[in-house]
Amino acid sequence: MTATEPSIDIARLEKVRRTGTKLTARCPACAASGGDRRGEHFFLNTADGKFGCGAYPGDAEHRREIFALVGIIGERRPDPERDRRWKMDRDDERRRESARTTLIETAKATRAHIIARHRWVPCDVWENSPQRIDGPLVEFDPRHFIATLFPQDATVWTGDERQSGQHGKHAARWQTVAAWQELPAETVGPMISPATWPTGTISRAAENVASSPFVVLDFDGFDGLKPQTPQEINRHVRDAIALVRWIREGLQWQLAAIIWTGSKSIHAWFHNPGNAALQSLRDAASALGIDAGLIGRPEHPCRLPGQRHAKTGGMSRVLWLQTPIP
Ligand SMILES: [Zn+2]
Repeated sequence: MTATEPSIDIARLEKVRRTGTKLTARCPACAASGGDRRGEHFFLNTADGKFGCGAYPGDAEHRREIFALVGIIGERRPDPERDRRWKMDRDDERRRESARTTLIETAKATRAHIIARHRWVPCDVWENSPQRIDGPLVEFDPRHFIATLFPQDATVWTGDERQSGQHGKHAARWQTVAAWQELPAETVGPMISPATWPTGTISRAAENVASSPFVVLDFDGFDGLKPQTPQEINRHVRDAIALVRWIREGLQWQLAAIIWTGSKSIHAWFHNPGNAALQSLRDAASALGIDAGLIGRPEHPCRLPGQRHAKTGGMSRVLWLQTPIP
């Protein structure tokens, strides 16, 4: 073995067994995600230094991972104290990983419990809405939606995702709420940011946000699964609405609106509960089926009501709406 030839630090392996020059052990790469508990995957030929994982034969990436975990380059003198520290660090890391897994599993189990306890069926949502959803003005008019949530003199952006950043071309996408009321409904939207902006803003960059009175929760699917069939979508919406009710009643967040996006998900608009509350929801978001990337991102666009979805052709609409702000 030359000084630069990759080799394996046998002291770092677990469940080591030797037969002649053949050594088997628990594969460090499989072990990193809790696998190979019986210690059967890893093999090393101590005569020529060839190693690999029996579960991933010929997988170069897996081999690189093994080497990153237990490989050594060049000569290394035995150092039991260093190896002992390394093993303690590794065990700590595994304990932390296992604690994270437990937390997520608990949240998932809790989620099922929350959903069962906070059923909020569509007719009750409709019944409970402070503004009656009984005509196109409340259900579909984006101008009415804006005027309900923002003060008349606030500057808000509406447009499609790309309508931002260019002088002249995009300046008209920022208007006061009063000015949006004067424009034809079809020139408003299709998206809005849950933010207000200084007069004269032309870019929807985070640093330009003047205030973020709302946080919009996007229930885009549980455990990374997007609902597909009409039945799955119905069930998803029903479960998401139960979580909205729990956030409202259990966490005491103030609900502002619920929007059906016209595709597969609902958006819940809540009055901004403050940074600490946002952070704790962000931690639990993925387990709750909420897109964590949008929490605390007031510059991000969300669909307004009365907008036809480009892919599904479905129309976005209001399911629940607070009374207009004075
Ligand atoms: Zn492996």
